[in-house]
Amino acid sequence: MSPAPTAIYLDHQATTPVDPRVLDAMLPWFSETFGNAHSEQHAWGRQAAEAVDVAREQVAALIGASAREIVFTSGATESNNLAIKGAVRFAMRHGRGNHIVTVATEHKCVLESCAAMADEGAEVTIVGVGPDGLVDPELVAAAMTDSTVLVSVMAVNNEIGVIQPLAELGALCRARGVLLHTDAAQATGKVALDVDAMQIDLLSISGHKMYAPKGIGALYTRRRPRARLLAEISGGGQERGNRSGTLPVPLVVALGEAAEVAGSEMSAEGTRLAGLRAAMLDNLRASHADVFVNGSVDQRVPGNLNVGFPGVDAEALMAAMESVAISTGSACTSASVEPSYVLRALGLEDPEAGASIRIGFGRFTTETEVDIAAKLIAAAVGAQRGDSSARAAE
Ligand SMILES: *Cc1c(COP(=O)(O)O)cnc(C)c1O
Repeated sequence: MSPAPTAIYLDHQATTPVDPRVLDAMLPWFSETFGNAHSEQHAWGRQAAEAVDVAREQVAALIGASAREIVFTSGATESNNLAIKGAVRFAMRHGRGNHIVTVATEHKCVLESCAAMADEGAEVTIVGVGPDGLVDPELVAAAMTDSTVLVSVMAVNNEIGVIQPLAELGALCRARGVLLHTDAAQATGKVALDVDAMQIDLLSISGHKMYAPKGIGALYTRRRPRARLLAEISGGGQERGNRSGTLPVPLVVALGEAAEVAGSEMSAEGTRLAGLRAAMLDNLRASHADVFVNGSVDQRVPGNLNVGFPGVDAEALMAAMESVAISTGSACTSASVEPSYVLRALGLEDPEAGASIRIGFGRFTTETEVDIAAKLIAAAVGAQRGDSSARAAE
């Protein structure tokens, strides 16, 4: 089943298309210059190694890191696993503590990595969030004990787009000698991040959330003070021993180019996306004055809108609207009909959570698309509510 030619994609938190500039940059590395970046004895290998070096610099520059601190992985899921399991196993092996603090609205791969560490004897404290979806740094501080070795708090939430107070968390973690890891899959290239200013020790990046392909990501790993990890994948010792395996040069080049493009366009693109989001919300509000927004409006990435319509069934809404691609929650849990655990953590009851949709704007979304989509969503809500004027508009 392929989307209709007129379909409008507004699900950029689930994944993004590959930017044509990124595709152009990566293509030659499949067949023309296909060397193994670890075979530096000959020109093929050296050429690939140089391309990897450039990409490492590009990714590092986006977050204020140095190239030596970037470990390429298959995506943010792997980066989060490596950061959490790697850091906590290292600490436990050296008797430095075994306690992790994380947050209820984290992505499943963070929560499940923490749960896996609990099976290995770690202690895990899960801090809640306020009704705006933001974590209170004081609650994180209060949760920390003498055994705490890692705090893992996402930079931007994938369902509601809220931006967590990383700089404050960084300051309190550094003061206690605790590592701060952040899942920045939804943040890199969208909000300004600086690992030094924010005192972040480990930071996860996903390629396909920032217009690079699926299957590539990175983990920033601080060198001073050193964030030490036990590797999960053993082998030839690539990536400074943190992640063995031959680097996928085309994907690495793509991530570098995506980082470069995102960094140079971030501020203008942010303004444009904020305009699209405001237009969508104004439009929806004009037809349905009771629409509510989930999560902080101010502390939020511009490409995300998560709204609910009281009494409406979001699943049925989406089914009725085939030409607009939106979602009812994170793609990873959308196979189940359970209301979103993220929205429930904000204090929403099941009916409100089940009446909510996530609308995600991206680099190639146009004003016209937003206009059409807003009308279609408003009409579908109206139709469900038995509003005859809305049905006529559809
Ligand atoms: C998409 C996403 C992930 C998983 O990233 P992959 O690169 O698909 O493994 C993790 N965390 C957040 C917040 C995400 O949005």
